[in-house]
Amino acid sequence: MTDQDQATVEKTLESRPTLESEINSARINALELKLETLSLITESLWNIIQESDVQCSEDLKEKMADVIDQRAKRDSIKVTCQACGSDQKASASYCNHCGNKLVYSGEISPFDY
Ligand SMILES: [Zn+2]
Repeated sequence: MTDQDQATVEKTLESRPTLESEINSARINALELKLETLSLITESLWNIIQESDVQCSEDLKEKMADVIDQRAKRDSIKVTCQACGSDQKASASYCNHCGNKLVYSGEISPFDY
């Protein structure tokens, strides 16, 4: 192998995304999708509120505190991974420990997707 070939191989290897960077990209894409979904839900609900006669803008902080409590309760609901036996959040689609698909038969808030 010539020095130039060696340099080309090294450059190719450097520019190849590592598994870790590919996983991080996938996670960022999933987070962006989740953020977009939540933004759509929020704006839609806000429009519904504004179109109704309810005057709840001033109640928003109080409602946010309620939602924080509700989320804490939902986060405490666990499901046991069938593959590794670890406890996972019921809202999670995949096990954080082994990657197995999780099955939860209870109700999950659309805000937890
Ligand atoms: Zn698992």
